[in-house]
Amino acid sequence: MNPVYSIIAPIYNEKENLPELYRRIAEVMESSGETWELILVDDGSTDGSTEKIHELAEADVRIRKLIFARNFGHQIAITAGWDHARGDAVVIIDADLQDPPEVILELAKKWKEGYEVVYAVRAEREGESWFKLWTASLFYRLIYRITDVKIPVDTGDFRLMDRKVVDVLKQMRERHRFPRGMSAWVGFKQIGVEYKRAARHAGVTKYPFKKMLKLAVNAITSFSYFPLQVATFFGFFSAGVAILAIPIVVYMRVTGSQAFFGQATTLIAVLFLGGVQLISLGILGEYIGRLYDEAKGRPLYILREAYEA
Ligand code: UDP
Ligand code: MG
Repeated sequence: MNPVYSIIAPIYNEKENLPELYRRIAEVMESSGETWELILVDDGSTDGSTEKIHELAEADVRIRKLIFARNFGHQIAITAGWDHARGDAVVIIDADLQDPPEVILELAKKWKEGYEVVYAVRAEREGESWFKLWTASLFYRLIYRITDVKIPVDTGDFRLMDRKVVDVLKQMRERHRFPRGMSAWVGFKQIGVEYKRAARHAGVTKYPFKKMLKLAVNAITSFSYFPLQVATFFGFFSAGVAILAIPIVVYMRVTGSQAFFGQATTLIAVLFLGGVQLISLGILGEYIGRLYDEAKGRPLYILREAYEA
């Protein structure tokens, strides 16, 4: 029989966090008095998390394991969880206990009131560098402004979704994905619940600046053509300036003015336009590269091992 709740936790080198994660989730879910399963998605861990997952799954049949053949990334790990979850309500939670499992009960309460997506909003964050806080805050606000989907600010992947929503998300097989954007895009009845984001239980962040940047680019390109429109805007702007400049320059020559003689102005104009053109090409390249990746149609992830169903 299918459980009521499926909890998905993506794991990338979280050996020290696993026992505590399991303990707290089990405790919280037991207190709900309903059936549940915990899906541990091992995203190519190399620190012995895989063995730990086997150990836990051995001891508790409610744990289901998905072991990736290599590191595919957090977003893809979440997707694998969606694909395999059987519950009526599906919860995504970080493995480092920054998302307190106790909040799941609050999310579930809203779900029972009839909401189909209940996302957890970070009202406060503990134990994070000012750089992370600042970049994250900037990121959420930028995304909110320039994407076509209203993705709630200060919201991570920690959320509960109804079976109906997960069934829709499972059909969205895009490669470069931004799960929180996707879950906003589908619509349905959505609501936020505020919570206090804790500090990491153990280990270090698996999101260095490079990965955060990649996630941000994925988020923007997946949900917006804004960067492409910026290129168009610059094109019109430069052309406009040129058109305005022609009569002015002609007038100055006719009246014998010596201003704007020399090469500096020419050089600046050439460099500026060359720069704008290269940036625009690069932006175009980002979108074309994504098209190419989609065209290849490779599987989103490769499982080395899965639970015996
Ligand atoms: N994670 C993953 N694959 C990756 C990077 C991260 O599955 O390539 C998992 C990680 O184990 C954790 C969650 O994604 O459960 C969030 O990562 P982290 O806590 O490092 O991010 P932060 O909270 O610092 O933004
Ligand atoms: Mg974390």
